Amino acid sequence: MDRVIFHVDLDAFYASVEQLDNPALKGRPVIVGARPGTRGVVSACSYEARRYGIHSAMPITQAHRRCPHGVYLIPRMERYVEMSERVMAILADFTPALQQISIDEAFLDLTGTRRLLGAPREVAGRLKARVREETGLALSVGIAANKYLAKIASDSGKPDGLVQVSGEQAADFLDGLPLAKLWGVGEKTLERLAELNITTVHELRSFSEDILCSMMGEAGGRFLYRAARGQDPGIFPAEAKSRSISSEVTFETDRKDEGSIRRALLDLSQQVMARLIRGRWQANTVTLKLRYWDFSNTTVQKTMKHWLTSSDEIYRMAIELLGERWDGSTPVRLVGVGTANVVSADEPRQRELFPDEYDKKRKVEEAVTRLREKMADLPLTRASLLGKRRGGQPPRGPAKDGGASPTP
Ligand SMILES: [Mg+2]
Repeated sequence: MDRVIFHVDLDAFYASVEQLDNPALKGRPVIVGARPGTRGVVSACSYEARRYGIHSAMPITQAHRRCPHGVYLIPRMERYVEMSERVMAILADFTPALQQISIDEAFLDLTGTRRLLGAPREVAGRLKARVREETGLALSVGIAANKYLAKIASDSGKPDGLVQVSGEQAADFLDGLPLAKLWGVGEKTLERLAELNITTVHELRSFSEDILCSMMGEAGGRFLYRAARGQDPGIFPAEAKSRSISSEVTFETDRKDEGSIRRALLDLSQQVMARLIRGRWQANTVTLKLRYWDFSNTTVQKTMKHWLTSSDEIYRMAIELLGERWDGSTPVRLVGVGTANVVSADEPRQRELFPDEYDKKRKVEEAVTRLREKMADLPLTRASLLGKRRGGQPPRGPAKDGGASPTP
């Protein structure tokens, strides 16, 4: 029996939440990200802003040049996490086999539910309607027999899309897309393929796995061979781990400048901490995941003797781990930050050496999270952590940068 996988992706998520919370912004180009005039990037933008050629990960100064009359907002991460959790709770009503892969995306495994829930397309329609009614947000759904194809399907229908691709349709569906839409095929891969005169999915599919491996390296060749056929190349993790909380982002184009990787890590650290706080969780291990341009992966983690108390702490550890696994020049296509050994904050904290200190720090972090939500503009401590540095030296003076990473 074919599996039935949904990939669900909220449309222009951060910007949509801003338009929802402030109806005066509806229909206007809304750009969420760093403050114009800083070195930061666009985190998310509304579809109105995309008409000006703005997209996530674009330098904010460039976005501002293209659309000076746009509405520029600093991310309110805690509000987005709250809305994300409301959406995920609705999705969980449809199936317990829910795997959240980022703040605004999830996979649902609906295999074998036809008799109970109805045809997949109808289920997707109900799911979209419920999310819109209960949260006001629009999302796109892709339905296919594996995660990879479902992800590409949801992307192809945006915004407010619903695209189902059966196994027989997979090749035709992919042939109708530009090669760059093959998820995971970045700029560098496209260049390399163009050198080999491969410019379409159809052309890519005509090569054997052996030849692709010899041309693109073992991991890259295996990936491309499967991707071109709409088979799952294993780009997404198999199962959600119950006792870990993580967020990751795949860059639209591979990154090799430390600044944008740091900004992504900062954004992810804040997402992870906000989820820990909102869920009343605590954790003592930080994990960093990197996927390089050639699809090879590395994961590294560090465990503390105390519970993590702030996103700064997670960020600092992530930077430390980055130093262990990144040479500063290899292009990176994905970064992930997570926490492992997650337990309920209500459980007794036997491992805590200084419980009073912990409570104090935690309360401060909760206050900072709430404050960030209210003030939106935050040169607090976060921005000062972003500096152009390698090694352990703190940056001199406050860096003016509120940038965040690309996901939604
Ligand atoms: Mg999205």
